[in-house]
Amino acid sequence: MGAPLLIVGTGMAGYGLLRALRHVDRRMAVCMVTADDAAAYAKFQLPGALARRRDAGELVLASVEQMAHRYDASILPRTRALRIDRARHILRTDTADLAYGQLVIATGAEPRRPASIRGTGVTSVLTVGSLAEYAYLRSELAGRRRVVVLGGGASGCEFADNLLRGGCDVTLLEPGSRLLGARLPALCSERVAGALHTAGVRLRLEDGIQRIEQGLDELEITTLSGARLNAEVVIAVLGSAPRVQLAADAGVDVGRGIVVDTRLCTSDPDIFALGECAEMGGRLFTLSDDIDAGARVLAGVLTGGHTQLRWQVRSLRLQLECCPTVLCEPPPIAGEWHETATARGVRALFHDFNGRLRGFVLVGEAVSDAHHLLSHIGH
Ligand SMILES: Cc1cc2nc3c(=O)[nH]c(=O)nc-3n(C[C@H](O)[C@H](O)[C@H](O)COP(=O)(O)OP(=O)(O)OC[C@H]3O[C@@H](n4cnc5c(N)ncnc54)[C@H](O)[C@@H]3O)c2cc1C
Repeated sequence: MGAPLLIVGTGMAGYGLLRALRHVDRRMAVCMVTADDAAAYAKFQLPGALARRRDAGELVLASVEQMAHRYDASILPRTRALRIDRARHILRTDTADLAYGQLVIATGAEPRRPASIRGTGVTSVLTVGSLAEYAYLRSELAGRRRVVVLGGGASGCEFADNLLRGGCDVTLLEPGSRLLGARLPALCSERVAGALHTAGVRLRLEDGIQRIEQGLDELEITTLSGARLNAEVVIAVLGSAPRVQLAADAGVDVGRGIVVDTRLCTSDPDIFALGECAEMGGRLFTLSDDIDAGARVLAGVLTGGHTQLRWQVRSLRLQLECCPTVLCEPPPIAGEWHETATARGVRALFHDFNGRLRGFVLVGEAVSDAHHLLSHIGH
């Protein structure tokens, strides 16, 4: 028998591919390696799980043994991929050298840490990009309430809202002048800011963290504006950077992510990439529905099919109980936002200069329009 299909990573992309493959082929030899414990879980559940104070163990959908048995794969947990020897078709890991016929890189993305903060407490800043980091955050929150969330993008707002509902006293710091990111329209972010404030989140726009000193029992924070805050836990929610090192070191083309074509194939015909580490047509895979669609296409390609992936227009409903919000981010093109606000909601539509609807943000009662607008959009 030839060398197996080797998948690096057991997140949504790696396991999504394994599931999709087994739908079409029960016989292909599949080996997976992952740096973590290979438990299957749904990452998008993490913010909501904080509100319900669920332990990390409760979020595990299947253990490594269950996944290996259910999908007939050899899965090596706690095994870090170090280097790809493309000429010999070998993946070097920290435990063994593994031969591959075809290799899929599904290594995800690394949460960004704040670069410019000074002080003895900097190493205490947490990120939440994996189940292990979630477990650590839960242990740090035990018996503590005062939390600072740094970063007011969509995820930062979700964490602030869910931590508040989980019983924390939350301050949200956003260095920019509005929530949800500078590209989204002002009225929507004002409405979300208002709802978070009413729910009880202390909001500081145009402010970030300058210094964090480790005090006796708490972290002493000096903000960029010079204000002093004390907190027991600080969480940075600043987005993430695709893990491309493995591919880059092997001389595989890399942009912001590992560059793939519509078959998810990299510049090496035997190496593929999927999930948050990958980039197709200049765009990153940030939504789970796109990763699922990619997994189905790649399963077809690896079993000899001729399927190709096309980006679909998608919307994302934020996990914000205080303020229903749906985003459909427009592509980075010239155009204009038009916002209509009522007491109950905001409807913001983005049209390009040809008058075509290319994106929207809906807040409050307006979220009921999401389905209709999605069907009219032309990306
Ligand atoms: C808090 C949070 C909330 C989210 N909410 C939503 C949402 O509501 N809707 C939505 O659509 N999307 C959401 N997302 C995004 C979505 O969850 C991610 O895009 C998706 O989980 C990424 O899956 P992945 O498999 O690419 O990466 P990951 O799940 O990060 O998996 C990467 C895997 O690679 C392994 N790995 C990395 N490097 C190595 C190495 N060198 N050697 C071996 N193994 C390695 C890791 O151990 C891991 O198993 C959210 C993300 C986060 C963090």
